[in-house]
Formats: sequence, structure tokens, C-alpha cells
Amino acid sequence: MRILITNDDGIHAPALRVLQEALRPFGPVVVVAPDRDQSATSHALTLQRPLRVNRIADDIYSVDGTPTDCVVIAANGLLPERPELVVSGINHGPNMGEDVTYSGTVAAAMEGTMQGVPALAVSLVTRAPADFVEPSRFVAQLVRKVQEHGMGRGTLLNVNLPHRPWSDVRGVRITRLGTRIYRDSLVEKIDPRGKTYYWIGGLEPVWVREEGTDFHAVEEGYISVTPLSLDLTHYKTLVEMEAWGLAP
Ligand code: MN
Repeated sequence: MRILITNDDGIHAPALRVLQEALRPFGPVVVVAPDRDQSATSHALTLQRPLRVNRIADDIYSVDGTPTDCVVIAANGLLPERPELVVSGINHGPNMGEDVTYSGTVAAAMEGTMQGVPALAVSLVTRAPADFVEPSRFVAQLVRKVQEHGMGRGTLLNVNLPHRPWSDVRGVRITRLGTRIYRDSLVEKIDPRGKTYYWIGGLEPVWVREEGTDFHAVEEGYISVTPLSLDLTHYKTLVEMEAWGLAP
């Protein structure tokens, strides 16, 4: 199985090489990742300028673009053959609840899904220095299962791994997206030339405590696996709105 690994933390993220080694038993594994940190770039596609690719090794490339650019380039010509699986991560930080809409990690997996390639997004829930060996081994296990069971059209898996000694990880839970409590703040300052600038900040994420969610699973020490759908349609509202009687 030909595997494409990308991320949004950039080509220098330590998790990339560890994950690449862990997935080698499945077949050729190529890394195509942004040349710098592109976290929170969501599903951005670069259309206003050309993209440059830097070949670091036969199976490692960096791109001066977004995670989505990386998947598009890899799947449509950079690689001799299209990948059969996209693995995005392992992100250094959580991607749970509504945050998946900001996530470059999740968006790269979504792009894989849109290209018709099964895709996983994987995140380790810490920003502290971390060991990616055991998490990568879990990703390999999940890849084996995906190979066995396949994945439905338009779906992807969003995995969040708790940060604790691996022997203390309590198990795996299949979850739904949780609800985040946003505590964003805006810092306003004056630059050396007297102009105002803003910096979007915020405290570490906090979620509503709800059984069955990604956040709850991770907090309880479980690995969270959330199946996601690209179809964002809200079907209940669709039916209700048919009765609104809107007319041109
Ligand atoms: Mn990131």
C-alpha cells in the first residue's frame, strides 16, 4: 500500500520520521509536508502564487504551501503513483471538537478523502516535548484495520492520543466531536513604527464534559477515534426548512 504522510507542523516536526518508519512495513511511504509550521491553516489552497517543492530525499519533500497543497501536489503528479492512504500527523497538539474546522492536520486528511483516498488525521494531545514511537505504533495498527475493513466514501478518521506513559493508556474509544468552550483573547499592541497590531491568543482549550466525546475519552486516558463525514449538511434542518415556504 502506497502511503502519503503529511502534517501541518512542518517538515521539521519530529513525529514525521518516526511515523514514516512505523508505516514502512505497509509499502512505500512518502512524506510531503509544508516547509514551515502551518498549524490552523485549515483547508487553505494556494492559488495566488506558484508552489515550490524541495526534494530532501527520495521519499521526503517539502512544499512552500499549506497541508492541503501538499496532498494536492502529491496526489496529482509529484509522486509517480497516487497514494492509497493519506496519514496526516502526528500533530503536536489536540484537534478535537469544533477545532477540527481550524485544523490543517484534519483538513489534509479531508483533502485525501476528497481525492478518493482513505485518510486519517492523528494528533497527540500535548504541546510539551513528546515521544512519538508508541503513538506511531498505534497508527500502524489502525492502518492495518483500515486496510482490512476499508472506509466509506466521504469519510475520514480523526484520532487524538492522550499524553501519558503508554502503559497508562486505558484503551480506545470511538467517539463523536465534543464541544469546546472558547476563551480566545485579542492582544492589541503598538509596533515600533507606531502602528497598532493584533495577536489572536487564548488560553489552553477547555471542553464541555460530555460522555462519548473525543475530549472526554482523552481526558479519561483513552485514545479517541472519531469518524468524520465530509457531508456537513444538517438533514433535520433541511426537512424543517422545506416547510418555511421560501419563494423567489
Ligand atoms: Mn499543528
